[in-house]
Amino acid sequence: MQKIYMDHGATTPLDGEVLAAMLPYLQGKYGNPSSLHFHGREARAGLETAREKTARALGAYPEEIIFTSGGTEANNMVIQGVARYFSAGERRHIITSAIEHHAVLDTVAYLGRTGFDVTFLPVDRYGLVDPEELAAKITAKTILVTVMTANNEIGTIQPIDEIGRICRQKGVYFHTDAVQAVGNIPFNLKEQPIDMLSLSAHKFYGPKGVGALYIRQKTGIKQLIFGGAQENKLRPGTENLPGIVGLGRAIEMATTGMEAKTGALRELRDRLIAGLLQIEDVRLNGHPQKRLPGNVNVSVLYVEGESLLLHLDLKGIAVSSGSACTAGSLEPSYVLLATGLDRQTAQGSLRLTLGRDNTPAEVDYTLQAVQEIVTKLREMSPLFK
Ligand SMILES: *Cc1c(COP(=O)(O)O)cnc(C)c1O
Repeated sequence: MQKIYMDHGATTPLDGEVLAAMLPYLQGKYGNPSSLHFHGREARAGLETAREKTARALGAYPEEIIFTSGGTEANNMVIQGVARYFSAGERRHIITSAIEHHAVLDTVAYLGRTGFDVTFLPVDRYGLVDPEELAAKITAKTILVTVMTANNEIGTIQPIDEIGRICRQKGVYFHTDAVQAVGNIPFNLKEQPIDMLSLSAHKFYGPKGVGALYIRQKTGIKQLIFGGAQENKLRPGTENLPGIVGLGRAIEMATTGMEAKTGALRELRDRLIAGLLQIEDVRLNGHPQKRLPGNVNVSVLYVEGESLLLHLDLKGIAVSSGSACTAGSLEPSYVLLATGLDRQTAQGSLRLTLGRDNTPAEVDYTLQAVQEIVTKLREMSPLFK
């Protein structure tokens, strides 16, 4: 059976060249970057080269890059770290959007339970935050605005430059979770009004368990973890050197020739969207244009996304659904509910996220499979007329 992977929003396969760059650091180059001898210096060189590559890919300075264990840690580090920096003062208000990844949403909610004021901005039916509404919510007590660059479920791309400009005017820090965006959207942080940015290697063909946080110079942030002096004291502990070297190579590759790669991906995405919308009672979720080049998210009325997913899996097609099975009950996606979908429509949603190795033939095979499965499921559904 042929296997088709259309879940690149969850993770991507490790690139062969990235693996090749990592291997020496898993074998011969085992030194601790903090050691002063030859092995340490060799490891340190690998670490700093990866930092330079990451900085160059983002248009940042190497001193502004802190390596972490991934996107979740980067988001926690920045939100809790800024909160700690301000914790002694009067200012204690944080603004985020209702459709952030749980790593942001739950961290902000936690701060809300421990003495901070928190605002969760609503989004429109495309998943867009309204910058004017955001501006109106900023007060003299606001310390941080955190809004993701692109959403992991529906792919919507936020107007982050506009949001950043508002934050800068008002003297508020702006952080963006760019985990889905890096490799799909260009960044030039020397020009953009972004103070902090999170990324994760496994979303752009790098290894799992390694990410980075960009922190603009002179930004007020306090450490969460105590120990050594690694990573500017913000992230003590011996560095995951093979992972970091892999991240450096992966981000370099992901941001080279990006326009051509995302152009091809967009074409494939639009072919998939057009085909899915041919099926009766299928709706596109997210924004028709302002969306990630590989993201497709649809609601298929009168079927459950989860059963669609499982039937596609039987045919060797890996996708994801817009609902999470918690304790045997299907909870519709909070992202889709925030865009105004009713629970039933949200439960019938499917996310297909394309990557660089997907082909038009795979898209057509998948469309055929979805059509067949939807027809079969609807025949059995009491909801379908
Ligand atoms: C995957 C993802 C994360 C979490 O990153 P990890 O490296 O898996 O911890 C955070 N935010 C977004 C938008 C993501 O897609």
